[in-house]
Amino acid sequence: MVRRIAVIGAGIAGATCAQALVQAGHAVHVFDKARGPGGRLATRRMAWVDVDGQPCTTRLDHGALGMAAQSAAFQAFVERGVQAGWLAEWSPRLAVGDPPLDPGTRFHVPVPDMPELCRRLLRGVAATWPCAVDGLHSNPLGWQVQAGGQRQGAPFDLVVLALPPAQAAALLAPLQSEWARRAALAPMQPCWTLMGVAATAGAAPPGWDLARPAAGPLAWVMRSDARPGRARVPGQAHWVAHARAGWSRQHLEQAPDWVAQQLRAALAEQVGGRVEWLHSTVHRWRYALPQARRAEPAESFWWDAGQGLGVCGDFLGGCGVEGAWLSA
Ligand SMILES: Cc1cc2nc3c(=O)[nH]c(=O)nc-3n(C[C@H](O)[C@H](O)[C@H](O)COP(=O)(O)OP(=O)(O)OC[C@H]3O[C@@H](n4cnc5c(N)ncnc54)[C@H](O)[C@@H]3O)c2cc1C
Repeated sequence: MVRRIAVIGAGIAGATCAQALVQAGHAVHVFDKARGPGGRLATRRMAWVDVDGQPCTTRLDHGALGMAAQSAAFQAFVERGVQAGWLAEWSPRLAVGDPPLDPGTRFHVPVPDMPELCRRLLRGVAATWPCAVDGLHSNPLGWQVQAGGQRQGAPFDLVVLALPPAQAAALLAPLQSEWARRAALAPMQPCWTLMGVAATAGAAPPGWDLARPAAGPLAWVMRSDARPGRARVPGQAHWVAHARAGWSRQHLEQAPDWVAQQLRAALAEQVGGRVEWLHSTVHRWRYALPQARRAEPAESFWWDAGQGLGVCGDFLGGCGVEGAWLSA
């Protein structure tokens, strides 16, 4: 029997769930508050003006660094993406003295940008964006999705929420108070992220693409333009640097300018000299990553068949892209 199903959220969890439901023959409609899919699999198109007044754009992967596959199911999914050419293995040159990445773990990134993974999954799936869902109402005809006080389309038989826990909790509160309570309590780590373009002329670029500083505000520093399928521009280095969760939490409400100053200084220390920024900015991820854990399959999603209401996402499936995919 064909069901009309609304999926709220078009990150890896929502996109995976939507694709599986379409393949099972259902009529699926996806809603996301962003202008396109991807969620935390994110690439920023940064517009800036160079010293000659010329407009420039630079694309920087400022969310998830990539994905590692541990389970056989996710390994098979990644392998299919590699065969089809929309995932590529990323073997960064590590900074001297950094420990190797988890032994035996292969790291993959979508190409040409991070949202491509969700774009592929959602090919042919009906979607509305940007559409920030602010209410779900159940009536005898089904579920009515509401955004900005307006009903969105015809009623649905089933609804799946594929959102970070704080956003899921807000929608669940009038519908499933126990789920809403558990989602509101789900611990998520924040992350301040610095991204920008630096001039490389006159300075030898460091001989690494990925560094994990042992101390200081930064946890990860990477050359975004050294990743597979990304554009390299002569004379430019494209940097993305993620602050540690503890540092980000401590300075979560600080002004972005102050945060940018601190993180630029930390990055300069990591590369061992002055960085000549052409343009840079920061992004605050309030809910970047759940606490690391791998959930049992039966606990990795919520489903109430009576209500026709489900919830998936990384906070249920376990840390990271693989956890979100397994949950979906
Ligand atoms: C800085 C950073 C680094 C990371 N590094 C890694 C890494 O190296 N490896 C790894 O595996 N994972 C990493 N992660 C985590 C990984 O990105 C996430 O675990 C995963 O992408 C979560 O997918 P999701 O579908 O559950 O949620 P999301 O990707 O957050 O998707 C949720 C979607 O819901 C939408 N939404 C929210 N509220 C509403 C609403 N009210 N109405 C409509 N739509 C809404 C959002 O716009 C979003 O598109 C990182 C994350 C960050 C931020």
